[in-house]
Amino acid sequence: MRKFNFCAGPAALPEPVLQQAQEELLDWQGLGCSVMEVSHRSPEFTEVAETAEQDLRDLLAIPSHYKVLFLQGGATGQFSAIPWNLLGGGSKSADYIHTGQWADKAIKEARRYGQVNIVASSEDRNFSYAPAADSWQESDDAAYFHYTPNETIGGVEFPYIPDVKSPLVADMSSCILSKEIPVDKFGFIYAGAQKNIGPSGIAVGIVRDDLLDRALPDIPRSLNWKVAADGGSMDNTPPTFAWYLSGLVFKWLKAQGGVAAMAELSKKKSALLYDFLDRSDFFSSPVSKESRSRMNVPFVLADEKLDKLFLEESEAAGLLNLKGHRSVGGMRASLYNAVPLAAVEALVAFMADFEQRNG
Ligand SMILES: *Cc1c(COP(=O)(O)O)cnc(C)c1O
Repeated sequence: MRKFNFCAGPAALPEPVLQQAQEELLDWQGLGCSVMEVSHRSPEFTEVAETAEQDLRDLLAIPSHYKVLFLQGGATGQFSAIPWNLLGGGSKSADYIHTGQWADKAIKEARRYGQVNIVASSEDRNFSYAPAADSWQESDDAAYFHYTPNETIGGVEFPYIPDVKSPLVADMSSCILSKEIPVDKFGFIYAGAQKNIGPSGIAVGIVRDDLLDRALPDIPRSLNWKVAADGGSMDNTPPTFAWYLSGLVFKWLKAQGGVAAMAELSKKKSALLYDFLDRSDFFSSPVSKESRSRMNVPFVLADEKLDKLFLEESEAAGLLNLKGHRSVGGMRASLYNAVPLAAVEALVAFMADFEQRNG
């Protein structure tokens, strides 16, 4: 039986997508083998790759002067790829906003290749908010400006898009496809697939054409966006199954009404949980109201000795993976696109009952 899964990543996938993959697994498109067992250069797989790209372009309204890349090495690979690809155009420095653990990893990697200027940080309040734009110390000559629109671990989401001088780079691993974005405000958008796109093993990059000529001279071939763009993201063998499954998720998203419908649903789901947390004296959210994530909702119990019981009982009730990140503690419910409203309703009902019995 399928249960409600609140895992932060790899996360829940839409059930109809898994069903289709199951039905097609042994004999895909009448070829007598699975999608994993054909050449990535076959006409059948080429169609998968091209359709996935077109559907993603449709979903996010990606302008034609942007390339869509299907990459390997996860979002973490891009922490390295970004400085490699963008610090060879003159400026050897980059601006970063520090909002938590993922931003920190991106910053540490960039420091190996250039100078990093921290324009703003929310460390003073334990990374529980998104810094306001008027507090920034933006550089005049940065090669790019990097931020993390949704911090998956802290549960902090920027309520606005930074308006900056240099090309804006965004790690959208945990919020891509959850609301409409003006792609042309960005120089590079990237996301590991395993939260809001598909299975792990593939990452999506969306890069403005004019940023493809700024790589450092010794850039490793496998990190080079230009090589990926020129080779249709097939310079080496791509993760074909992950690409195929991501394509099925894109089709599913379109059938649900696209990104606008997901935005509405994500508001509804997260509001249901936050409203409950705010009414409760037993549970609470550690995140500043204006920066609360629609995707990842950390919450704590007033008495942390009850954490273990909460996790045992919630799992027994069919609510999976609510344990908070090891560095934060408490609980976290991830409400990505594939998590239905019914899952959040079941979670809130369970929490109300748990509070009544233990509060
Ligand atoms: C999960 C996550 C990552 C890491 O993704 P990998 O694909 O495991 O490298 C990076 N940034 C954010 C915001 C994430 O949520």
